[in-house]
Amino acid sequence: MSTLSHDPNCLFCKIIAGQIPSKKVYEDAELLVFNDIQPWAPVHFLMVPKLHIPSMAQLQPEHAELVGRMMVLAPQLAAQEGCRPYPEGGFRLIANTGDDGGQEVQHLHFHVIGGPRPWRKG
Ligand code: 5GP
Ligand code: ZN
Repeated sequence: MSTLSHDPNCLFCKIIAGQIPSKKVYEDAELLVFNDIQPWAPVHFLMVPKLHIPSMAQLQPEHAELVGRMMVLAPQLAAQEGCRPYPEGGFRLIANTGDDGGQEVQHLHFHVIGGPRPWRKG
């Protein structure tokens, strides 16, 4: 599977392009972070690279810095969005990958899910 920089049929590429509205949490030149439309918990946002990478299965060594930056940003944004501090608080970070992984949108994304329990799911 090739990695196009932008797929005009991809839902998250359309959100990145502003063709579909989203509630933005964070944006920079390489990343967009927005709230999930069907949140499992009080905090539930999706971190996506602006580059159209279909899933974790397509990650290459040249993506390491980008993905590393996403991992460092996740706890900062989790705190900003209302997750309590570790260890009492915290969050879940999920990357559904492929059909067996339950992936529905074929554009790499990390779910960050947290906030006070009970949650609707998870
Ligand atoms: P996946 O199952 O692929 O890991 O997760 C896809 C996520 O995208 C789901 O949690 C779903 O609620 C979310 N989602 C689907 N369509 C939209 C949309 O149009 N806007 C936003 N903000 N989230 C969406
Ligand atoms: Zn895409």
